[in-house]
Amino acid sequence: MNQWKERPQEQPKELPNEQSNKQPQEQQKWHYVPQRVFFEGEALAYPLGQKIVALCRELGLPTRQIPSHNRVTGLPGDTPNQKYAEAKKTLVVGVKRDLRFPTCRPSADYQFPLMTSCPGHCEYCYLQTTLGQRPYLRVYVNVEEMLDQAAKYIEKNTPKTTTFEVASSGDPLSVEHLTGSLFKTIEFFGAQEHGRLRFVTKFTGVGPLLKARHNGHTRFRFSLNSARVVRDFEHRTPPVAERIAAATQVARAGYPLGFIIAPIMVYPGWEEDYLQLFDHLKRELASIQPLSPPVTFELIQHRFTARAKKVILERFPESRLDMDEEERKFKYGKYGMGKYVYPDETAKSMKNLLRTALLERFPDAEIEYFT
Ligand code: SF4
Repeated sequence: MNQWKERPQEQPKELPNEQSNKQPQEQQKWHYVPQRVFFEGEALAYPLGQKIVALCRELGLPTRQIPSHNRVTGLPGDTPNQKYAEAKKTLVVGVKRDLRFPTCRPSADYQFPLMTSCPGHCEYCYLQTTLGQRPYLRVYVNVEEMLDQAAKYIEKNTPKTTTFEVASSGDPLSVEHLTGSLFKTIEFFGAQEHGRLRFVTKFTGVGPLLKARHNGHTRFRFSLNSARVVRDFEHRTPPVAERIAAATQVARAGYPLGFIIAPIMVYPGWEEDYLQLFDHLKRELASIQPLSPPVTFELIQHRFTARAKKVILERFPESRLDMDEEERKFKYGKYGMGKYVYPDETAKSMKNLLRTALLERFPDAEIEYFT
């Protein structure tokens, strides 16, 4: 059943933003504009819920009230691929009821899920399986309640420092122009002596966050990959050059900076491609060296589960992702589940090559982990 009228174009258009209306063009063009908006009635009890729904109506987007952000039905699309694409064009505005924050190793102590999903269509994305049949974008409006809860976690763990990861369930920067929630969260953590925030993004709308009073307590990380991986698999995400340009803005604003190189893939010529990426990064960051605190890198090799492979091939039947189990090593995980990673020899040479190349170019960098 298709109860939604399609908008004539998919390209994002300019959106107002309460922190700044003057972002550079290249940032604004990646602003996500949904094609339809669902909201829980309860979300309207919160100023942020009212603001988002009013903004979407102002933009002429169709809106509809639903009983729960966990149950969204009636999206258009016949094939898995179409359903996936339509879900990504759907924004759901809800209240986060479960305020227990799951652990988030190795990136941080806890997850801090301000939102769920992302407008990108990366074929390898971990959300393919974690979100299953619910890849639509969800934003939560009870941010103050979530921050109050984070304060309790921090207090309980004091005098140790407690770290929270915002990007464990999606890309929070991709919807920041609609919510402003990341700005608020960054300023909250800026005032926490024992709390720290981290997130990773492929998006580039950093403008409004440059003014946030972060106090050096938020590490802003960008996800990067080789030109070929980005071209072949990271659909509907900003080009690497724009991500790096956004990273330099963030570093100039004094944020601790980091990069996640992931998923690292092996293909003919992969070594040169990754070295080119690092050279590009070095050139762009040269004007703001030394970075203080030192830049961090997290290195993650490509992996997949049997379930992920099935879902990915349903959604992207033409995918060229290398998911040949015969060429991989099976690594057992929790509850008997496992994933396919590169064989030990390949993983070892990948780790050595990339680690050495990064430290040659960024001698002060901290390589947090390779996994
Ligand atoms: S940008 Fe990140 S969260 Fe979004 S689809 Fe790509 S991998 Fe997934």
